[in-house]
Amino acid sequence: MVYSYTQISQYLRCPRSYRYRYLDGWREKETRAAMAFGRCFESALGAYFRGEDCGAALFKEWGVYRDAPFEYKKGDTWDRLVHQGVHLLERFVQADRVRIRDPKQDLQIKILQTSGENEFVAYLDAIGEVDGVRCVIDWKTTASRYPEDPAGLLSLDPQLICYSWISGIPDVAMIVFVRKHAPEIQYLRASISEEQRREFGRMVETTIKQIEVGQFNPHSGIRFPQNGCVSCSHLGLCLNNEPLIAANLIRKAGASDLDWLDELVD
Ligand code: SF4
Repeated sequence: MVYSYTQISQYLRCPRSYRYRYLDGWREKETRAAMAFGRCFESALGAYFRGEDCGAALFKEWGVYRDAPFEYKKGDTWDRLVHQGVHLLERFVQADRVRIRDPKQDLQIKILQTSGENEFVAYLDAIGEVDGVRCVIDWKTTASRYPEDPAGLLSLDPQLICYSWISGIPDVAMIVFVRKHAPEIQYLRASISEEQRREFGRMVETTIKQIEVGQFNPHSGIRFPQNGCVSCSHLGLCLNNEPLIAANLIRKAGASDLDWLDELVD
């Protein structure tokens, strides 16, 4: 069995939701414009590091979705997103704080780690230098800034801890492209300790054991901060609500095949 970061984090959020997705094959329909745009933006970043025209790459990739029936958040439109994206790319190129030595090898890296009979796979956005420091890099496109205070907060991000664990690289960075009226880029860095990596490895093992013995009890919650059900794509299944199921979900086998998409944009 091959496990991914997305699987483990979904199990930890709610084991019942894990069962719906990975055992029963219920996946969320892609209706959110921001998700698709994030993937197009990442392709444009790849074009930049390969020395190509990243603005043209963004238009080409995002152009595929011009007439897609996406849900746009308040005020967003196809045009607005592309203009924000081009503005962010220009700022990123001007700042020139990130270096990727070998774009063929160091972008969208798949790393497999074997643990007993199981394998664990992670999809890293990039390995490169941020302000001269070699890091695992995660790109994020978002409508609001990531919290930076107190100092060291980023070192508690489980996805970055996972990437540090699987790559063995202690330094991690999150480059956050903030799509707002005046676009902004956050260059956030942190170091993950050896102890954090060991703990993550133990947590992966424990979680896999729980999955293998079939523990899929719901972790339901509707009150802040334990309000996972409110934004859960599987809510219709738990409520036995057919219209909600039809609106949000699609059932197909091989649900884990698309985990790499979730790791690109979340
Ligand atoms: S609706 Fe709540 S209990 Fe049901 S799968 Fe989602 S998070 Fe779990």
